[in-house]
Amino acid sequence: MAHYNKKLITFFMTTKCNLRCTYCITSATDRHDQFLDLDFARAALEEYFERTGNYKVRFYAVGEPTQNLEGIKAVHQMAQEMSGGLTYFEMISNGVYSPETLEWVGNNVDRVWISYDGPRDNNDRYRLTPSGGTSTEKVLDTIAKLKDMTSVGIGLTVSKTNCHRQTEVIDEAREMGIKSVFSKAVLDPVDKTGEKTEWGVNIMEYAEGYLEAWRHARQHGISYLNDLVFNFDGRCPIYCRACGPTPHITMDGYVSSCDRAYSGDTPLQDLIYGKWDPEQRKIEYWPDRIRTIQGRSVYNMPECRECEVRYQCGGQCLGTTYQFTGDMYKVVDAFCPAIKYLHKHMNLDKGEYWPVEYET
Ligand code: SF4
Ligand code: SF4
Ligand code: SF4
Repeated sequence: MAHYNKKLITFFMTTKCNLRCTYCITSATDRHDQFLDLDFARAALEEYFERTGNYKVRFYAVGEPTQNLEGIKAVHQMAQEMSGGLTYFEMISNGVYSPETLEWVGNNVDRVWISYDGPRDNNDRYRLTPSGGTSTEKVLDTIAKLKDMTSVGIGLTVSKTNCHRQTEVIDEAREMGIKSVFSKAVLDPVDKTGEKTEWGVNIMEYAEGYLEAWRHARQHGISYLNDLVFNFDGRCPIYCRACGPTPHITMDGYVSSCDRAYSGDTPLQDLIYGKWDPEQRKIEYWPDRIRTIQGRSVYNMPECRECEVRYQCGGQCLGTTYQFTGDMYKVVDAFCPAIKYLHKHMNLDKGEYWPVEYET
């Protein structure tokens, strides 16, 4: 299934976080604690469910979603009331929970992606507690308990230090009984200084490490995906749900189409397509922005129009291309060889497009 078809309404629950990861791109800790407005959440949910009949909800955050567990519970209840108990819930989380949070999440969320930047010593290096300690034992304990209660996947961030150790993480997943791993490369920030960080990874090196780990994962029946390859199993000119657009409800009252544009003051302004009016209690949508977002397909992207892998790539992550180039219809040139390399080798291995099991 092309990733575009995986459409869930996303709620950014809070900016609050109980970790202090070295590379945190959301600068969660520099922000004041903000929480989702539940009146806005209700209006967005009603509109989305009524228009699409797609009862799928995703909890995400600029910090850690479960730091607003009461808000999650409220949205969960609203969604179940509106859908007659049919809603599927997904969450992306750091897995640092109290026993009560773990209990609730395990019993109420259908799929939980836990961030773990393995192997262990690598996770120790980056995913730190506010006092500077490691979060690894806590996270692994959560995974071990949660996997007996619900479906759990590992969200792996790949930096320079674990780029060539992705296979080790697959082995750790195997030992823990986890069947799904999804990774994302951490890149150097995009600014005029051209500054290099200790973690920013070269995308081609990441792809090489990924390919090796993907082969290893296949041998052990583990699904290992990333955002360069998640459309390879289908044929689609559109990259992901962002182009729907599928609503992402921000804490400051905006409707965004993408995880990257998580507040109204985002530099990725064209990805914001609506605003909550608390006095009128309604959401105003902006048709011009919606049209621009919906037009973002390989048919309208000059670099992609003739590309041999266009229907399996879909034009790259638009949040990333917008951030790097200032234009969501452009591509990041450095990514294309990595995408083509993976497409060629993964298909040579398989001899056909392989089935990827999404749980939605
Ligand atoms: S868990 Fe996420 S939001 Fe919190 S510090 Fe780490 S990367 Fe940032
Ligand atoms: S960050 Fe990329 S993959 Fe995620 S919603 Fe935005 S465009 Fe899609
Ligand atoms: S590989 Fe590059 S040029 Fe080809 S479709 Fe993807 S983003 Fe476009």
